[in-house]
Amino acid sequence: MENIKTIIKNTIKSLTRQEIIATPSNYAKEFYKEAKELNFNVEELNKFHKLLKNLSDEEKLYIRENDVTTYYELTFLLLKRINDKDLKKFIDNLDFLLTPSIDYNIEKKISELKLELEDNPERLVKNSTINRLRKFTNERITRDKVVVQEKAKDVKKVIGLMGKYFDKCLLQSDDTSQEVSMIKTELEKLELSKHSARDLAMLQSKLVNTIHKLENTIDESQAELFKGQKDCVYLQKQINKLEQDLNEVSREKDIDFLTGIANRRSFVAEVDKIENEYEIFKSKYAIVFYDIDHFKSINDNYGHECGDTILTTFATILKKLTREEDVICRYGGEEFVALIHYTEDDEVISYLKRVRNIVSTNKFVHKDIKLKIKFCAGVVYRNKYNSYKEAINQADLLLNKAKHEGRNKIIIDTGIYV
Ligand code: GH3
Ligand code: MG
Ligand code: MG
Repeated sequence: MENIKTIIKNTIKSLTRQEIIATPSNYAKEFYKEAKELNFNVEELNKFHKLLKNLSDEEKLYIRENDVTTYYELTFLLLKRINDKDLKKFIDNLDFLLTPSIDYNIEKKISELKLELEDNPERLVKNSTINRLRKFTNERITRDKVVVQEKAKDVKKVIGLMGKYFDKCLLQSDDTSQEVSMIKTELEKLELSKHSARDLAMLQSKLVNTIHKLENTIDESQAELFKGQKDCVYLQKQINKLEQDLNEVSREKDIDFLTGIANRRSFVAEVDKIENEYEIFKSKYAIVFYDIDHFKSINDNYGHECGDTILTTFATILKKLTREEDVICRYGGEEFVALIHYTEDDEVISYLKRVRNIVSTNKFVHKDIKLKIKFCAGVVYRNKYNSYKEAINQADLLLNKAKHEGRNKIIIDTGIYV
C-alpha cells in the first residue's frame, strides 16, 4: 500500500516536472514507469506483457521502437491490421491472378486454395500460403512458356533440315534459280504471330539468308530444289497451324472459363476502345454494375456447383439482352459489368427493366433445384463524369447503396430506382 502511494506521488511529480498533462493515458504510462523503477509488481502490466507475446515479430519491433507500454498506445498498432473483409476481396480475385493464360490444368488446385482461404482469410499471410502462391505463379509462367516452346520445336526441326538441304545445293550450284527466289519471297512475307515472333523470327531470317546465298550461286539442281520447295510448303503449313493455335489461345484467354462471356482482362481492352469512341464521336454509354444478392448463401445451402450454374445462367441472360455494340463481362465472383450505348436516357431504363423482368419472373434451375434469384445494380451515365474511373467508382457506390437499402434494387445516378 505504501509502495502504491509512493508510485502515485512520484507519477504526479514526474508529470508536473515534464509539464505533461495528466490525462488517463499519460498518467498510466508514467505510472507503469515509476512502478518498474520501484520493482513493484503491477498485475495489469503483467497481463499487458503476456498479450504482447501474441503479436507478430514486426509488431513486436514496432512496440520496442515506439515504446508502447499502455493498452491505449497498443490500439493504434492493432488498428493497422488488415481485416478479413479486405483479405476476402483479394482472395476473390486469386484465380484471376493465377490461372495460366494457356494451360488450365492447375486451375483446380487454385480454386481449392481459394475455397480454403475463403473460410480462413487470415491464412493468406502465412508463409506456407505465400509459398503455395509463389508455386502457382511459377507454374503459371512455366506452363505458358512450355506450350509455346513445344509448338515452335517442330517448326525448328523442319527449318534445320532445310538448312542442310540448301547448304548441299549451294555446293553444287552457281546460277540463279527463279523457284528459289520465290521461296525466299514467300518466307520474307510470312507473318509470324507475336507469341512466337522471338523464337521464329530469327530462324526465318536465317533461312532467308541461306536462300539468298543459294539464289546467287545456284545451278539448277531440279530434283533437290523440288524437294526443298516441298519442305518449304510443309514449313508454311506448320507455321500456319502454329499461328492458328496461338490465335485460339489468345481468344481463350479473353473469355471467362465458367460463363463463357468476356473476362475482366479483355474488358479492360474493350473499355479503352469504347472510351476512345466516346472521346472522338461522343457516343453515349451507361455503366451497369451488377451483383447477385446473397450469393454466398446459395453456395452454402445448395453447393458450389449450383452456384456455378446460377452464375452461368445469369451471364447468359445478360449476354442475350446485350446488343453487339454493347459489352458485358464477368468482373469477378458474382459481379458483372455491362456497358450500354444509348441515345435517349430512357433506353437504359428500358434495358434495366428487361433484365429485372426476366430475372424476377423466372426460376434458375440446377438439377432438381429451382431458385428465385435477386440482384442489385448501380448505374451511371458516363457523360456525367470527368473520367471512366470516376464513373465506375460511382456505379460501385450506388451498388453498395442498393445493398444497404435492403437489396433487390437498381439505383441510377439520376436518383431513379428501377
Ligand atoms: P451480397 O448480397 O452482399 O452481395 O452478398 P453475397 O453473399 O452475394 O456476396 P459475398 O461477397 O459475401 O459472397 C460472394 C460469394 O461468391 C463468395 C464466393 O465464395 C462466391 N464465388 C465467387 N466466385 C465463385 C464461382 O466462380 N463459383 C461459385 N459457386 N461461387 C463463387
Ligand atoms: Mg460481390
Ligand atoms: Mg453478392
